Amino acid sequence: MSRLPGEGAEGFRTLRRYGQNFLVDRGVLEDIVRRAAIGEEDVVLEIGPGQGVLTRALLERGCAHLHAVELDERLRPYLEGLASREPRLSLHWGDALRMDCGALSPFPRKVVANIPYNITTPLIWSLLRLGARGLRHHLYMVQKEAADRLTASADTKERYPLGVALEVMGAVERVRRVPPSCFRPRPRVDSEVIEIVLSRNFHLMEDGLWSGLLHRAFAQRRKTLFNNLKGFEGLEDWEGRLREAGIDPRSRAEDLEGDAWLSLYGTLRTRLGGMAVRPPEMPEGPPCGR
Ligand code: SAH
Repeated sequence: MSRLPGEGAEGFRTLRRYGQNFLVDRGVLEDIVRRAAIGEEDVVLEIGPGQGVLTRALLERGCAHLHAVELDERLRPYLEGLASREPRLSLHWGDALRMDCGALSPFPRKVVANIPYNITTPLIWSLLRLGARGLRHHLYMVQKEAADRLTASADTKERYPLGVALEVMGAVERVRRVPPSCFRPRPRVDSEVIEIVLSRNFHLMEDGLWSGLLHRAFAQRRKTLFNNLKGFEGLEDWEGRLREAGIDPRSRAEDLEGDAWLSLYGTLRTRLGGMAVRPPEMPEGPPCGR
């Protein structure tokens, strides 16, 4: 294994609550950058640059611009020197979950990031909203269990709302496993690089009915769809609505394929006309963290 020089948190007290496990393996770094296929036109978004190992590699690959969003200001000494020499790098200090990434200029087309694992689900949800504007290629390092859920097909116990959203918007691919030894400090979990390519159904992310429907339907996994959905947002006769969409009301949320979800959403949207539905609170995934 080839180590990256000068990396690995020497002299820096890492914090678990910020998911600070810095990448120290050159082979993994090269795989990520190769897969990102950065071209001269690409504007890239990086979440959690840390000490800048991936940041430097992306700049070296020749992207047009790189936005890096970092929460921990103790990392300024590692990143500001780089930014002062490199006009293509914009640093944004703050919480990526609270930042309006839609306002970034120039607007990013790709996100490439070794992210803090505890924000995986809400971060991906929020970035999916930018698909309509052109942010369509996502490459993330995530916890292995998160990769299991993000790629879970119908009829598996790992199926969850974000996995459904990804299935109907594009494709998710597992790129490679990454063992704990590739980070400093070593996380207690295995990691994986995953790639998301979005290609369709961007409008769903603008509609609170879509995310509301998915989260409500999965709220209590042992319950049937009918039992989870009755009482949701002023709609009545759920049994009729489900049958109209070709769905057995006794099925469970995890049983449904992406097409069935689209059909149910379409049926409900038609019933509601243009009526707005308030989206749920920022959806959280199951606990996850290194
Ligand atoms: N990409 C670097 C660091 C990965 S560790 C590398 O590969 O070495 C995860 C990074 O995300 C840390 O730098 C941490 O401070 C940052 N981080 C944690 N929570 C964040 C949040 N909510 N928004 C932005 N950055 C965050």
